[in-house]
Amino acid sequence: MVCERAAGARQGKSGMTLRKLIASPAPIAVSFEFFPPKTAEAEENLWRCIKRLEPLQPSFVSVTYGAGGSTRERTHSTVKRIVQETSLKPAAHLTCVGSSRCEIDEIVRDYWDAGVRHIVALRGDMPDMEGRYRSHPDGYDSTPALIEGIRALAPFEISVSAYPERHPDSPSLAHDVELLKRKVDSGASRALTQFGFDTEVVASFRDACARAGVDVPIVPGLIPTTNIKGIARMAARSGASVPEWLSRLYEGLSEDADTRRVLAAAVLAEQVQELREHGFDEFHFYTLNQADLTYAACCMLGLKDVEWARKAVAS
Ligand SMILES: Cc1cc2nc3c(=O)[nH]c(=O)nc-3n(C[C@H](O)[C@H](O)[C@H](O)COP(=O)(O)OP(=O)(O)OC[C@H]3O[C@@H](n4cnc5c(N)ncnc54)[C@H](O)[C@@H]3O)c2cc1C
Repeated sequence: MVCERAAGARQGKSGMTLRKLIASPAPIAVSFEFFPPKTAEAEENLWRCIKRLEPLQPSFVSVTYGAGGSTRERTHSTVKRIVQETSLKPAAHLTCVGSSRCEIDEIVRDYWDAGVRHIVALRGDMPDMEGRYRSHPDGYDSTPALIEGIRALAPFEISVSAYPERHPDSPSLAHDVELLKRKVDSGASRALTQFGFDTEVVASFRDACARAGVDVPIVPGLIPTTNIKGIARMAARSGASVPEWLSRLYEGLSEDADTRRVLAAAVLAEQVQELREHGFDEFHFYTLNQADLTYAACCMLGLKDVEWARKAVAS
């Protein structure tokens, strides 16, 4: 297995193109997010996806935790299988909503015992998004408290969320930046952003965080837009916006999956070029358990599994 890292260097505002990205080597780090499968078929699909992306040597891969802890067992077994069957470093998502400290602490200890060393620590949402967030009476009442609880149990690496367009529950973007600072002060070492499509917004959020003393990487989250209606639904719940140009791009194509895939690749290509131009060198991909578009975006960043490509051409 040979992994070639050759991405574009920072090019200021000179107009980053794919040609420049490939021609100017620079270190790039990527991570991939998966969700735990519900059925045997979905599990097979996830593992095809993991195996396809593994040779790209991501810094880590993360597995989400269903709202209110609904996928506790499935998240655990997926993460454990990644530890046992791959060379990847898994990060388990964990939310504190709806659970006591004892329950959360037990999950954290189980992860440590299973060889997991990285947690994505989150507040989470009320089950079925019902009403305003309320913390569990015996639970961790905020993400910084959860991070402190995890760190008191074992020296996990901890990543957290960040919202360049403001979290829906937050009174202001400044509040989100201040909360992120508290998460970092509590022990988080990376912020993964909610997906978004305006790279200027992500860059200006990163700069605001830096001014506020947030000294950890702010890693932009990228999501393939093949299913734009699904993305719009997720965005409406989660403090992200879908720009009008993007919705218009997919208009009239609901029955044309092939064209939507080509367009999604073009959207990702533009995003990675712009983000590199803004100086980002770490990227978090919401894979939706599909490898192809994430793999293509990594190729555009100059990251690819040369061995796999050679075999594909030969066969
Ligand atoms: C990278 C990433 C990964 C994610 N993974 C998952 C996942 O695996 N599973 C899942 O269910 N969801 C996941 N989410 C979604 C996330 O759980 C929701 O966006 C949730 O609404 C906020 O959780 P958080 O940790 O981001 O909140 P935070 O950033 O900690 O807080 C968000 C807002 O809530 C406010 N707040 C915090 N505590 C309270 C309180 N006690 N009462 C009232 N308001 C409060 C804060 O002030 C802030 O404005 C993810 C999001 C991102 C960006």
